[in-house]
Amino acid sequence: MRLSARATALEPSATMAVATKAKELKRSGKPVISFGAGEPDFTSPPAVMEAAKAAMDRKETHYTPGAGIPELREEVCRYYRERFGLTYEPAQVLIGAGAKPLVYEAFACLLDPGDEVVVFAPAWVSYVEQIRLCGGREVVVDTAETDFIPRLEDVRKALSPRTAGLLINTPCNPTGVLYDADLLRGLARIAEERDLWILFDEIYERFTYGEARHENIVALVPEAADRTLLVNGVSKTFAMTGWRVGYALGPKTLLAKMGAVQGHFTSNACSISQWASVGALKEADDDVEAMRRAFRKRRDLMVERLSAMPYIHFVQPQGAFYVFVDIRACLGTSYRGKLLDSDLAFCNSLLDAEYVATVPGSPFLAPGHLRLSYANSAEEIDEGMKRLYRFLNNLEA
Ligand code: PMP
Ligand code: GLU
Repeated sequence: MRLSARATALEPSATMAVATKAKELKRSGKPVISFGAGEPDFTSPPAVMEAAKAAMDRKETHYTPGAGIPELREEVCRYYRERFGLTYEPAQVLIGAGAKPLVYEAFACLLDPGDEVVVFAPAWVSYVEQIRLCGGREVVVDTAETDFIPRLEDVRKALSPRTAGLLINTPCNPTGVLYDADLLRGLARIAEERDLWILFDEIYERFTYGEARHENIVALVPEAADRTLLVNGVSKTFAMTGWRVGYALGPKTLLAKMGAVQGHFTSNACSISQWASVGALKEADDDVEAMRRAFRKRRDLMVERLSAMPYIHFVQPQGAFYVFVDIRACLGTSYRGKLLDSDLAFCNSLLDAEYVATVPGSPFLAPGHLRLSYANSAEEIDEGMKRLYRFLNNLEA
């Protein structure tokens, strides 16, 4: 069967692939430690379970309005008002089956063939594939040499008459860096000067550690509201990855069109999951804070261990739950006679030899790197770090 050029060019999600492989190995009895997919190991908070059970008891088993149940859209508005001082009305909120389809729907509504999107690399694996699926083209601004913080002059250099928008993700997956207020103001200024839209993915906003603060670009620059789509969801904040609920907030006309795309695509997000998300937003704030504290401890543990390892370098992460490690000094070495000539070869050898799952940097547009998620227990981090250390010490020059 002949596949379309678009499908042929598509790469599967490396984060999902590594998660699947690690789960399969575990099921076959292997002692796998997964630093792979970015997924909290916590169970969803009790308020989520209770809200879901209550929804089942009420027999909330039908289609819901395509854009989401009014109760959840109102709850999202309340959350944004209280957390960021922003006023959105329910008609400016779209509930999706995760943030991932919402990002796709946004590109579907914002890109004409050949339109360009400025993407900061390293970048989450799905952005570029989705941009391409929607007929757009990514223009990559590399931040690897500037501690993963983009420079405004580099952004300006990347602009062309075809530039349609800027894609911003803070706290950043995979680097864990946060963009500060000055940088976000600068990016908003460029968007204003060049009449660009901004897709602002803040799905890790609740997970920041130490001094660093998460800044919302619309709270900083209210005039940017008309050109900005905010993307968020319950997956990370409330440890609800499997429930599949995300939300997008922005200008009404864009949200209405995204809702129309969704109406031909997934229809509404799962009815029970939407009610579970109402429970999360209403009652699970203390659970989120407890998870944040746990992530901070785990980050400190992982960072401390990594700091003592040979070959590798990294930028101290301030948010999300990832450390993005530079393994370029390992490339060209061998492990048990096998040449490690790429980040992918490194990841495969590490998984085969030590059963430690990680994600290679290449699908994040950062070859020669490795992403480690610390969203797992301190015991697992401790054991996984011992294995990584052993692996590195057994590399042959
Ligand atoms: N944005 C970023 C930066 C992510 O890492 C992810 C992965 N969870 C998503 C969006 C999508 O999350 P979900 O579809 O689970 O809401
Ligand atoms: N976003 C998470 C990650 O980067 C989960 C997998 C995915 O959706 O890509 O690992």
